[in-house]
Amino acid sequence: MITVMKFGGTSVGSAEALTRVANIVANTEGEKVVVVSAMSGITNYLVGLAENPVTDIDGVVEQFANKHLIEAGQLFEGEAMDEFRAEFDERLVAFREAVLSDREDPLYKDNVTSQGERFSSLMLAHVLRGMGYRSEAITSEAAGICAEGHPQAGSADLVKTASGMTMRVKPLLAMGCIPIVTGFYGANHEGKPLTFGRGGSDYSAAVVANAIDADVLEIWTDVDGFMSADPRMVKGAIKIDEMNFGEAAELAYFGAKVLHPRTIEPVRLKHIPLKVRNSFRPEEPGTLIHHLRRSKNELLRSVAAKTDLSIITISSAEIAYRPAMVARIINAIAEIDVIIYSISTSLSTVAFLVHNNDVKLTLRQLNGLNGGDIERIDVKNDVALICAVGDDLLDKCGVSGDIFSAVKDAGANVEMISEGASDVSLNFVVPMSKVVDVVRILHDKYIGSGAQ
Ligand code: ADP
Ligand code: ASP
Ligand code: MG
Repeated sequence: MITVMKFGGTSVGSAEALTRVANIVANTEGEKVVVVSAMSGITNYLVGLAENPVTDIDGVVEQFANKHLIEAGQLFEGEAMDEFRAEFDERLVAFREAVLSDREDPLYKDNVTSQGERFSSLMLAHVLRGMGYRSEAITSEAAGICAEGHPQAGSADLVKTASGMTMRVKPLLAMGCIPIVTGFYGANHEGKPLTFGRGGSDYSAAVVANAIDADVLEIWTDVDGFMSADPRMVKGAIKIDEMNFGEAAELAYFGAKVLHPRTIEPVRLKHIPLKVRNSFRPEEPGTLIHHLRRSKNELLRSVAAKTDLSIITISSAEIAYRPAMVARIINAIAEIDVIIYSISTSLSTVAFLVHNNDVKLTLRQLNGLNGGDIERIDVKNDVALICAVGDDLLDKCGVSGDIFSAVKDAGANVEMISEGASDVSLNFVVPMSKVVDVVRILHDKYIGSGAQ
């Protein structure tokens, strides 16, 4: 039995939390590989470093070290502290080099922001050693996690990662060692760190589970499991006991922050069940996400919202009769790797939903197209995509009409609808200012106390 266990930022955010995590790991039967995020707050700090000029490198290194040493001081003493400091100081030298490296390098930010995981993994490995276990902190490079793609938006190469990890991590398991692997990034073809996007440690863990053919992937976080809505947005959000991969994948892609959007695919490919669990309440069973799920016949299971999006509408006479032009527009957007969250067409318009941050680049690209054909481009900023997931939601007669009337009750105009693209979800766009109201009203009507 091999378990891959991933612990997020708050789960490794303090001496107390690290001790709790070490106990969870120790109490797990069989072989285990652990993947960790940076301690909470560290990656945000590193983003700040990467984006602003550094004038006092000694001060930065000291400040960064202290953020970890304050917690380490409560965990290690004597010889254990000396052993920890030896490895810590080595990694600190590499941290300094990363911050001082060439800022013009397209992977500079990836290099700096991926530093946090190197330190949290080291701390956890040493806590486990202090408890009498064999444990090694291993960087993604050393573990064989291979990444490709654009800066801050890498993807893992699953085939190369599987062969790398078989050579480098499996032998450690055979020796009874617990490897603690850095989440968030892999090594590109030149061996340079390439991150998987914010929250990417979930994806790292799924990639590791895929690579070593794990029996189960456990994502340990700070809530009881996958919930019916973001608990920060909806006070009455309830924990879901069981979901299938499709439902979880849609919700994660469309904004449920509890899982990085790409977490599901690597485990779905190998039929590896995924559990979302609370490291602060390990007695709770969490949420099981797998291939099959007994249908509970609920109308709606969970609602998520992807915020900070924009609608770009391209107008051109009878564009619907000119598929080649639509294809040219889509190709032009694909060339710049901008994700299109939804598309809708009418006789004379094509509308795309993209992230606010991608609007400028997309407009530049569209303006570079042979302009004669395009009559007008309009942009509507600050909209959000609501994703409502339920059992065969779209097979149920009248459901979407009913949902939209609830949205109207929230005083929101539906700007764009995508229905039928997935059989488990109904997606529609509302203004950002109405997101919270819409999510709450849907939740109250179909999931909250009224639906129970
Ligand atoms: P970690 O640091 O463990 O990766 P994250 O902060 O990335 O944790 O994700 C967990 C958080 O996701 C929760 O604290 C919760 O606020 C938020 N969240 C958003 N949507 C959901 C949901 N549907 N179910 C559970 N948590 C959610
Ligand atoms: N530490 C990274 C971040 O904050 C990755 C993660 O937490 O999953 O985005
Ligand atoms: Mg996360």
